[in-house]
Parts: sequence; C-alpha cells; structure tokens
Amino acid sequence: MDDRNPGDAFDAENIARRHDEVATRVRDACRRTGRDEDSVRIITVTKGQPLIKVSRALSAGLRVFGESRPQEFREKHSFLEDVSGIQWHFIGPLQANKVRHVVGLCSLLHSVDNLDLARAVDHRAGALGIQADALLQVNASGEASKQGVAPGEVLDTVREISRLEGIRLLGLMTMAPYGDPGAARSVFRTVACLAEEVAEAGIEGVSMDELSMGMTDDYQVAVEEGATLVRVGRAILGPRRD
Ligand SMILES: *Cc1c(COP(=O)(O)O)cnc(C)c1O
Repeated sequence: MDDRNPGDAFDAENIARRHDEVATRVRDACRRTGRDEDSVRIITVTKGQPLIKVSRALSAGLRVFGESRPQEFREKHSFLEDVSGIQWHFIGPLQANKVRHVVGLCSLLHSVDNLDLARAVDHRAGALGIQADALLQVNASGEASKQGVAPGEVLDTVREISRLEGIRLLGLMTMAPYGDPGAARSVFRTVACLAEEVAEAGIEGVSMDELSMGMTDDYQVAVEEGATLVRVGRAILGPRRD
C-alpha cells in the first residue's frame, strides 16, 4: 500500500496534523479546567473507514483505535495484528452472542450496557483465562435510541458486575445527544457525578478511573467535564463511507 498520496486530503501528513489539532484542543480544555494535560487519551475511531486510511493513520504514528461493529473490528484487527503497539478499543453495541469476536482482542470494551452482556463477557474471559477490562455504558440522556443503563441503575449494576471475576470494571462510558452541545455538557456532568458516587461506594475490584466521553462534536466539552478517554473519528480521519 502506498501511504503517501499528496493529492489526498487524508494522507498520513494530514491525518497527523488533524490529530495534533485535536490533541491541542484536548490540552487547552485540560488547562481551562485545571486538569493535568496528560490525563486524556485520544482514541482514533476508524469505524466506517477503509483500511487504507487506517494504514495512513499508522504511518502518521497513531496506534490507538476504536471500532464499533464486531465484524469490521475483527477484519481490521486480524489484518493489522502484527503492527507493534497497536491497541483496539471496542466502543459499539455488542450482542452477547458476539462476544467471542471482541473479548481478548480489544484492550478495553467501552460498551457493557446490560448484565446479560456482562455475564457473556465474563464467561468468554473465563474460557480465555483472562480478565477483560471494561466500562459500563450509561444512558444519561434518556433517549430510546441510546444504549446504556439508566443513571438510577448504575450503582446496582456495578455491584453485580463486580462479582464477575472475568471483568475488571475501570469506569463509565456515555454518548451525548447529537448536535446539542448544551445537552452534552449536562449528560457528561451527570455521568462524571455517577462515577464519583460509585467510587465513593468503594466496591471491591471496581475502579472509576476512566470516563469515556466525547466525540468529534463534543470532545472538548467532555474533557472539561472530566473525560479521560475521548473517541474521535471524523475530526481526525474525515467523513466515513457509511
Ligand atoms: C462513531 C463513534 C464515535 C466517533 O464519532 P465521530 O463523530 O466520528 O467522532 C465515538 N463513539 C462511538 C460510540 C461511535 O460509535
């Protein structure tokens, strides 16, 4: 594959520059809110992007990627298995019967959104002899189209998951309503508060160090509200093909 394609707005150089811009804005948001500038990791979301763009992102030095569909994740993961330092995050809806495509292959599963899925992940992790790092997805906006447990169910769900030896819960994940930055802030704030509540409950085996919040349209707000992981696709890689 030829990664140098000067006629293409999304060659490696442009991807590197766009990623740098996102990183600068993340650091600015940290500074505005008195946070440590290195406390946020940027996940480059490659879903809906062709392999050639992932390959250019690799040439640009990026190594941390996010995928949201099991089949697409599996294809990209296996194609790029040998790339040193590459890290995949699974961020999309996952059915319990698909966990084998994801558990053990991603470094963090952001989207555990119900107990049945948690049990399936636990079962698969047990079979692989590993502990799967995961986040609990919260639906703080109340939109029917969004995955996630309701805020009022977070604490009980975390307690249940904490009993599953195959899962290590590291924090919470959420998605804000599209195109509504004002609503985004209140959703992020709600979830950050929930994470604090859970942390204060001191549940054994559970940490609340990670908050996965923010996408292209709202990652700066998310960082201001405490995100430690932002999932950014279009701002770095441009429009998706689907
Ligand atoms: C697609 C997706 C993203 C990235 O969205 P952009 O708007 O391209 O930044 C982030 N998180 C999840 C869960 C996604 O599905």
